[in-house]
Amino acid sequence: MPHEDYIKEAINVAKEAEQNGGIAIGAVMVKDGKVIAKGGSTVWVDKDPSGHGESNCIREACKKLSTTDLNGCTLYGTLEPCGMCLSASAWANLSEIYFGAYREDAIGNNYEINEWSAEKASKNMRLFSGKSMKVNGGILREECADLLKGYTNWEKQ
Ligand SMILES: [Zn+2]
Repeated sequence: MPHEDYIKEAINVAKEAEQNGGIAIGAVMVKDGKVIAKGGSTVWVDKDPSGHGESNCIREACKKLSTTDLNGCTLYGTLEPCGMCLSASAWANLSEIYFGAYREDAIGNNYEINEWSAEKASKNMRLFSGKSMKVNGGILREECADLLKGYTNWEKQ
């Protein structure tokens, strides 16, 4: 499947997360062309700042495969991964990440880490596998950014 199709799956996960009372951010993990795990944001629902769509997706994939090594898997998310999720991806040996909206499309770029760029930061990530990390954004960018229209306060509901 082309990257757009997996991002569409992540968009569906984001919509589900919103329906469940969370922020409309979603991610899917793909292995051998199949979606093996999904994760929507549960930050607000669980009162857990680490419950990002991507981190939840990494947790589910590791549980499912019974490993902490996701080498060979690809993560697709609706929003540019944050520093925590990019690091978690490195710890999980994930070498490929694709995302939709850039942070500045949705929540501004002065949040958490000033002038954050997951694409740039990924060039400094080191994986146990020895592989370099590849991060590419902008897939279905507008559709993904639209998910987060209307969110004006990221500190509280
Ligand atoms: Zn994150």
